[in-house]
Amino acid sequence: MTQLEEQPTAKETPLVPIEKVVALSKRRGFVYPNSEIYGGVAGIYDFGPLGVELRNNIRRYWWWSMVQLHDNVVGIEGANITHPRVWEASGHVENFVDRLTECANCKRRFRIDHLPEENWEQKKCPNCGGKLGEPRNFNLLMETYLGVVEGERMKTYLRGEACQNIYLDYDNVLKSSRVQVPFGICQIGKAYRNEVTPGNFLFRQREFEQWDLQFFVHPSEMQQWFDYWKEFRFNWYHSIITHKDRLRFRPHAADELAHYAKQAFDIEYRTILGWQEWEGIHWRQDWDLSRHSQYSGQDLSYTDPITKERYIPWIVETSGGVDRTFLNLLLDAYEEEPDPSGRESETRTVLHLNPMLAPVKVAVLPLQKNKEELVTTAKTLHKKLQRLMVAQYDEVQNIGRRYRRQDEIGTPYCVTIDFTTLEDQTVTVRERDTTAQTRIHMEELPMYLLERVTWK
Ligand code: ATP
Repeated sequence: MTQLEEQPTAKETPLVPIEKVVALSKRRGFVYPNSEIYGGVAGIYDFGPLGVELRNNIRRYWWWSMVQLHDNVVGIEGANITHPRVWEASGHVENFVDRLTECANCKRRFRIDHLPEENWEQKKCPNCGGKLGEPRNFNLLMETYLGVVEGERMKTYLRGEACQNIYLDYDNVLKSSRVQVPFGICQIGKAYRNEVTPGNFLFRQREFEQWDLQFFVHPSEMQQWFDYWKEFRFNWYHSIITHKDRLRFRPHAADELAHYAKQAFDIEYRTILGWQEWEGIHWRQDWDLSRHSQYSGQDLSYTDPITKERYIPWIVETSGGVDRTFLNLLLDAYEEEPDPSGRESETRTVLHLNPMLAPVKVAVLPLQKNKEELVTTAKTLHKKLQRLMVAQYDEVQNIGRRYRRQDEIGTPYCVTIDFTTLEDQTVTVRERDTTAQTRIHMEELPMYLLERVTWK
């Protein structure tokens, strides 16, 4: 597998409180609460100017390594609304429920599967010690209606998981592209869930984005492909974090496995919230295509072009979250440290994001803003770099403050134009994590940066 360049494992730093990342996200334009001027909506967020850059980079890197680098994987983009029968076939109408209990005293609600066992056994609220009520089932699907005439409108659902479109388009992909089993279909798309307890910022939202691979195989090759994708996905996450020891597999226990699943693993990441699921690797056998064949009446079996064997392909699924990746990367990258220059008494906040995912790749800074030649040279260089990567120009406040502003948003390189530049065309390149400075000729700068900020 080709991957982002490995970064050295970071020194052990304390787990970052979510509030730090929430505050930074709002202050610097990564993430805003949705409809904030109306008081907000729990579990729904908008992404700001830097957030959308980071998000796009994360998505592009996933797509690049999953689709572009695999000859036997193609992509689709399905609609958020589907025929309502899809959700009957998938089992969501019947089974997509959370069991919930409410405290009679403080009225807080809890998912029973998220409560510490002893609290549920004693029916004791973990918040105030009050009495927990009888469990109730809540279906997570979000209902919506198609059509305009009252009485003729059709009830359907916003998709509760994005991957259903892949099963729906499987036959069309087979017939319209040149794929043959074994092959995979990828998709990145929104999913909607009426989560009973949205919270922890982007971790549990009501509208979020998933990335899925459904990989279709002959049953005899299931184990080998399951192992391949399991390792591949783990390595993928491993390559984009700095705290490598905070990533692990968690095998599903026998009582968690679906009846058709021989095995399943979660890839988990440890944050202040503890070990939590980041992505699931699932053995789905022929369950999804068989159910859709049955409910739609369409034959979704596959005929091997050589052996002519006819069968329903089995599926290996890898299903993760774009938003959890976004959040985990911020929590992984965030650090407050003593100012490395030692000159200022302040601490420096820095995001040690992998340079290839960082929202801004380079900042161009004239040493002084009142020296026309410095400003003109810096602006010309900025224009040139902007065509190649996301580059910012900044001339406000002293150079130390400008470095700090870029550190805080994870910009891996700052380029300073000073008086020496005017004499010999060299610039100072300052690296974010080490704060080391190197002098480079302006002509060599684009290549120098591109080598360090694009995937390979
Ligand atoms: P959980 O057990 O945390 O509720 P899940 O097992 O229901 O998650 P899946 O249905 O397997 O999750 O969804 C695949 C991925 O989508 C998860 O690994 C996670 O990254 C992401 N995801 C699921 N629910 C949410 C949510 N409410 N908000 C943000 N991301 C989510």
